[in-house]
Amino acid sequence: MLGKQFLHGGDYNPEQWDETIWIEDMRLAKLANVNTMTIGIFSWSMLELTEGEYNWGWMDRIFELLNENGMNAILATPSAAQPRWMSEKYPEVLRVEHNRVRQEHKVRVNYCLSSPIYRQKCREMSRLLAERYGKNPALVLWHVSNEYHEDCHCDLCQQAFREWVQERYKTLDNLNERWGTAFWSHRYSDWSEIRSPQPWPAGEWSMMSLGVAWKRFNSELTVDFFNNEAKVLREVTPNIPLTSNIHTWDVNWRVLTDAVDIVSYDSYPRFQVDDGDYERSLHASFKYDYMRALKRQPFILMENNPSSPPGTKLRRPGYHITKTMQAVSAGSDSVLYFQWRNGKTSNEMFHGAVVNHDGRGDTRAFKEVAKVGSMLQDLESICGTNIDPDVAVIYDEENHWGIEFSTMARWDGRSYMNQVHSHYRAFWNRGIAVDVIPSVKDFSHYKVLVAPVLYMFLPGVAERIEEFVKNGGTFVTTFWSGYVDEDNHAISGGAPGYMSKVLGIRSEELDACANEIDFKGHTWKTEHFADVIHAEGAEVISTFKKEYYKGSPAITCNSFGDGKAYYMSSSHCEEFMNVFYGDIIKEAGVDTLYSEPLPKGVTCRERGGKLFVMNFAPEERIVKLPNGETTTIDAGQTLIL
Ligand SMILES: [Zn+2]
Repeated sequence: MLGKQFLHGGDYNPEQWDETIWIEDMRLAKLANVNTMTIGIFSWSMLELTEGEYNWGWMDRIFELLNENGMNAILATPSAAQPRWMSEKYPEVLRVEHNRVRQEHKVRVNYCLSSPIYRQKCREMSRLLAERYGKNPALVLWHVSNEYHEDCHCDLCQQAFREWVQERYKTLDNLNERWGTAFWSHRYSDWSEIRSPQPWPAGEWSMMSLGVAWKRFNSELTVDFFNNEAKVLREVTPNIPLTSNIHTWDVNWRVLTDAVDIVSYDSYPRFQVDDGDYERSLHASFKYDYMRALKRQPFILMENNPSSPPGTKLRRPGYHITKTMQAVSAGSDSVLYFQWRNGKTSNEMFHGAVVNHDGRGDTRAFKEVAKVGSMLQDLESICGTNIDPDVAVIYDEENHWGIEFSTMARWDGRSYMNQVHSHYRAFWNRGIAVDVIPSVKDFSHYKVLVAPVLYMFLPGVAERIEEFVKNGGTFVTTFWSGYVDEDNHAISGGAPGYMSKVLGIRSEELDACANEIDFKGHTWKTEHFADVIHAEGAEVISTFKKEYYKGSPAITCNSFGDGKAYYMSSSHCEEFMNVFYGDIIKEAGVDTLYSEPLPKGVTCRERGGKLFVMNFAPEERIVKLPNGETTTIDAGQTLIL
């Protein structure tokens, strides 16, 4: 089923209602052109009422109804929220905060990732679900747990961290050297002294290597927690693929890539029908390009909001279609919502839903959902098709952590993500597909590789960049690159560290100051940064116009092997980036329908021979189509050709 037909539907928590509503939901689902329901996500306490007392009747009946109505089921394991009885009986399953205080039973995702008891309970529940529903014809996908995030600081997790550190660093001497513990008397004399970091000012926040190591450990622990359930599901149902939906960005998702069969993502851009929609849609697109690039295959849009909650500025007619088609055009094989029906009470009572508390199938939001369902049926030929961009932009979570932990680097308020977006935008403005990749991914698929603020070098990355350029690739990087190794340990010899040779430059000091540069006969204002660099082999193609370093290189290009490596010493406005990357796109022979940026707020994507032209501007835009015709696209609308 996956890859042949778009999945259209969403999270459904039928345990809140009786069968009368379930039957009505099946009728409404058909009206909405919905073919899939995701069930069981937080259902543990309704499946196992007390320890060993199971309650399968309602889920059995839901599976019957889904089958009778020709619908697909995505079945979740309920491990994102343990039942209250379990927290009471086995307190070790509850999470401990960074202040070392154990939480009470609350909210959700309140479990310890290491607890042997919780892991055993999760395996048992996964096995029961797989044995009961694994052969059910409706089942198309396992949804393992839900939205992993944050960490646990209990004794079990601390011990697991110690073992992880010991395995990675082997000896205390090596650990002390690589973490630089001679500083501020932080030397470890026994493995038992290793503990998780805590935020400023109360706890141990000063060790940059420890901070990155803890994040890295927790990402791997999260995948280990996933595999605890996945192993059982794969054993019992080897033909049913597995996913786990990504939402927050505190886990390094690249480590989950090989563990899941399909990447899935929960996307919640809050369109307000204003100038900011352009930026919000760009951020959403960036994340879709990351999700697709993780496995270089289509992904699943597991959650998005089908309507606006009361009290917010309502999404205007057509925006829902544009928002969902944006994901489809970027490689999603689904449009799945949170949620099918508004919760009766508690936290999700007024979250957007396909079916509101009025229970009607003729609301504006419902009709737009039905329209999306019908469009997905018409687009079936592109389901499962991949996108193979010429361009990759590196966004690396470990690099991000490194920057965040660089406490004295005065990076405040100038986020890494914003810097990456500023480069990505030049391609987005032209409708050029980009793979957003971590630095450890293979670069050989691309003509252009952009690595804004590549502060941290993971092992082998600098060598692979060199290889990429030598083989004819075009590489662009920026200020604040090449400062530290994987342990957040400063690289001796100065920036840009291991990239000095390929870039043919040396950075002396970084001025956090706006300046002006000459570029192609024009003067451009720069933003935030000016890196005072020396060309050591690279050609200077732009110089600074102000300050004591007036006349020093601002942008350089180094010919290296068959390729070119550019260094940009400043951050720049959108207009400059459009001009700069216009040349790069031309020079590198990037495949594009538009060599110039589309009108502000408009972007396009091509997938499987279909062209999606989307207007995220608050007003209509006149767009020249690739066939030479000119058309007007209203605010928030999509044209599919
Ligand atoms: Zn724990």
